Amino acid sequence: MAKVTRGELIYEGKAKRVYNTPDDGLCIMEFKDSATAFNGQKRGEIQDKGILNALLSVHFFNLLEKNGVPTHMVEPLSERELLVRRLAIVPVELVIRNIAAGSLAKRLGLEEGVPMPFPIVEMYYKRDDLGDPMINRNHARALDLAGDTELDRMESLGLMVNSILRKELAGVGIELVDFKLEFGLEASGPNSGRILLGDEISPDTCRFWDTATKEKLDKDRFRRDLGGVEEAYREVVRRVIGG
Ligand code: UDP
Repeated sequence: MAKVTRGELIYEGKAKRVYNTPDDGLCIMEFKDSATAFNGQKRGEIQDKGILNALLSVHFFNLLEKNGVPTHMVEPLSERELLVRRLAIVPVELVIRNIAAGSLAKRLGLEEGVPMPFPIVEMYYKRDDLGDPMINRNHARALDLAGDTELDRMESLGLMVNSILRKELAGVGIELVDFKLEFGLEASGPNSGRILLGDEISPDTCRFWDTATKEKLDKDRFRRDLGGVEEAYREVVRRVIGG
């Protein structure tokens, strides 16, 4: 692991902090143990979550890079820190769903667990003060959140991520129910303007169910007070990475 000097804090979110580095094109992303749900109304700590989410994100980003999905990851710096490329984040979150759960089940009156005939792609406007409302392409274009080329690229990368992760997780007895992705434009360097996958991929941002028992191995254990939250995150790490 390289040593990179941590500069000033440029962003603090619910689960992560981002710091400058001496290199303008790079940032440090630090994973915290704090957890929130329902747009910040529910708060708590999940012991070692930051370490487990960093481990999983590094693992999944490596797997995706190997399979042709460009990500912001450069390298891990410590058990909670990742060196990443600086992005201008597109304020559109992509959610991809293979099985009905959460807000989709509620909105469409579906039983949780009903498989979708094909992956459902949704877009949400990244605006905490509005509670991240669902939008479509017309809204994204009207508000100038992203161009059609960027949205097309995000959608095709999102579907690639879905098939790569689904296959890997199926091999360790985990169903990928749904997940959220964030993308950004590389801010500087020879590839400036290129769309990269950003943020994290972890049980905070994905729904993982045990294939055989349908047991939840993700943040729904925290959201719904099911107990065994840390154990579930550890179980995902154990199956996906080992140890
Ligand atoms: N998700 C997320 N951040 C959000 C909203 C959703 O990471 O701000 C993830 C969530 O973990 C799930 C998927 O996106 O894997 C779909 O979430 P849903 O719309 O069902 O909302 P929820 O039930 O989590 O409120």
